[in-house]
Amino acid sequence: VIEQGQPDHAVITTCAYCGVGCGLKAEMKGDEVVRMTPWKDGKANRGHACVKGRFAWGYATHQDRITTPMIRRSIHDPWQPVSWEEALTYAASEIRRIQSQYGTHSVGGITSSRCTNEETYLVQKLIRAAFGTNNVDTCARVCHSPTGYGLKQTLGESAGTQTFDSVMHSDVIMVIGANPSDAHPVFASRMKRRLRQGAKLIVIDPRATDLVSSPHIRADYHLALRPGTNTALLSALAHVIVTEGLVDEDYIQSRCEADSFDAWKAFAMRPENSPENMAEVTGVPAEQIRGAARLYATGGRAAIYYGLGVTEHSQGSTTVMAIANLAMATGNIGAEGVGVNPLRGQNNVQGSCDMGSFPHELPGYRHISDEQTRQQFEQEWGVRLWPEPGLRIPNMFDAAISGSFKALYCQGEDIVQSDPNTQHVTAALSAMECIIVQDLFLNETAKYAHVFLPGSSFLEKDGTFTNAERRISRVRKVMEPKSGMADWEITCALSNALGYPMHYNHPSEIMDEIARLTPTFTGVSYERIEALGGSVQWPCNEQAPEGTPIMHVDHFVRGKGRFMVTQYVPTSERSNRKYPLLLTTGRILSQYNVGAQTRRTANTHWHAEDILEIHPHDAEDRGLKTGDFVTITSRTGETVLRAEVSTRIQPGVVYTTFHFPESGANVVTTDNSDWATNCPEYKVTAVQVQKVVQP
Ligand code: SF4
Repeated sequence: VIEQGQPDHAVITTCAYCGVGCGLKAEMKGDEVVRMTPWKDGKANRGHACVKGRFAWGYATHQDRITTPMIRRSIHDPWQPVSWEEALTYAASEIRRIQSQYGTHSVGGITSSRCTNEETYLVQKLIRAAFGTNNVDTCARVCHSPTGYGLKQTLGESAGTQTFDSVMHSDVIMVIGANPSDAHPVFASRMKRRLRQGAKLIVIDPRATDLVSSPHIRADYHLALRPGTNTALLSALAHVIVTEGLVDEDYIQSRCEADSFDAWKAFAMRPENSPENMAEVTGVPAEQIRGAARLYATGGRAAIYYGLGVTEHSQGSTTVMAIANLAMATGNIGAEGVGVNPLRGQNNVQGSCDMGSFPHELPGYRHISDEQTRQQFEQEWGVRLWPEPGLRIPNMFDAAISGSFKALYCQGEDIVQSDPNTQHVTAALSAMECIIVQDLFLNETAKYAHVFLPGSSFLEKDGTFTNAERRISRVRKVMEPKSGMADWEITCALSNALGYPMHYNHPSEIMDEIARLTPTFTGVSYERIEALGGSVQWPCNEQAPEGTPIMHVDHFVRGKGRFMVTQYVPTSERSNRKYPLLLTTGRILSQYNVGAQTRRTANTHWHAEDILEIHPHDAEDRGLKTGDFVTITSRTGETVLRAEVSTRIQPGVVYTTFHFPESGANVVTTDNSDWATNCPEYKVTAVQVQKVVQP
């Protein structure tokens, strides 16, 4: 039953699913949610919501919720429910025992992009100040870390340049490696409205998503490239723009570094980057490449939107920089209707990165090795900070297997299901001596844990989320935490148990501390957010007291825009006779990521299992029809899925989602990762697909 009874009051809050960050109205009867409706004044969603925000909130009261802390000495023992005090004392004593035995840096933690800014900030503070190490990372490592790197290198800030409303001013929209209709539905609706008004559309994707062809939308160009060749294709687009004289010389002269432009121009002009040459590499006909490049450069205000199909590659960061190059070269940054727009997957990916969750950066993207910055935090936090970057998530796993990393505090992230090469992840977890999981459910990772701290859903706490357009929106408590403590209170209690005092009366006090320490947040407070109608886009400070809808208007954050040479380097993951197909992954509308929440809601009626899409030619070769079960084998593992024969996917490529633990998509994905950030290469895995022969 989704809707029941009549509400007696309502609370405005923010959706906890995707990076659109829709404002929602929780209509309540007592402390029970009766229904969730879109907030008509929400600036990110303008009165709309999708099937996830609207209907998939029931997980918060699902019977699988764990509401009592638990501990066990060994993962082979049964869980023992204990008091909060006992659980936290045990967790703290294990952290300290391991540090005294193996060294300060033998422990670390993972922050969650599902939790609030305030909670994420506290976890990284706990790791740095109470644990005494910079071994802190975020699940953004496995999705948009290349965005952080690539946009900082070129534009000077690790964030998207626009507001969602900006799309209504675009004449040309280029969507690269993103499927907003399924993954960012409310923004996709706005984009489609603009397309119906006549804006042109270029889609770069190995798969024919619904943007390519649906009843009212037809892409002007669908560049259906081979998985793993984004950088090659963007080099060919750059080649056309440079050799045909389509660059915006005035913009470049006034806004960008001349030396970097000259180097990039010389690179783009190389014959190896010609459409004819790159047609061989990408599989996209040269004429389509030429047509798309001309449209992007000359079609008016042109905006690029991209997703994980860009970042989750061995050249993820290179591709992000190649996108920024194209936008700068054509003068498409710093105004309405243009820009470089990463579509963030999770509700608070932007926020968790902003809050200093990366091992090398303090809040506000300032490097831990910068003494002045470090001193500012040391004064506020009353500790000395370690001056060197800590371990990234994959480095933590490697260090665990080699014996030097022994304990992990993991908040709101099911790394066993979500990270690549499951076998490697579980081997790492099995090698650790203490794993503390803080979550709503006993997820796959909790099977390897020694302490379980019951977390809280977005309905049970106050705080803020920051969406893909840098919009900081209020999250408001609509019911008391089921376990008695919100996540931020648990982190404080763990810190206190470790002997590093952390006391806040309300998350607003945590935001006040963030504002004191973070130049792009100095004007942010709960009062300011309320006064501005419930949200504000950072930077919000003395220069921009009402926030910043569009960045880099008069100058880039780094001063002048910097072009980067983005040489294409093929991934080492190749198909061959044994593994002849390339597997790529994505999402579906009704489910969300590893499905921990949506699988426990009525949305499962729409989508109850992960399916492998396979082209009719490849299906015929294997004697497959829709509904058959198939074995998918890669160099790392094997799993079984049901097949669907589909022309959405091109020959030689297969596609699946990863919402259900049983389907094990990450059992077959590899350890390959982005050269700059270690973001996993989820999007390219060479596989064999064979029909399961029923006995
Ligand atoms: Fe939630 Fe995203 Fe759907 Fe909006 S579009 S309701 S933020 S899942």
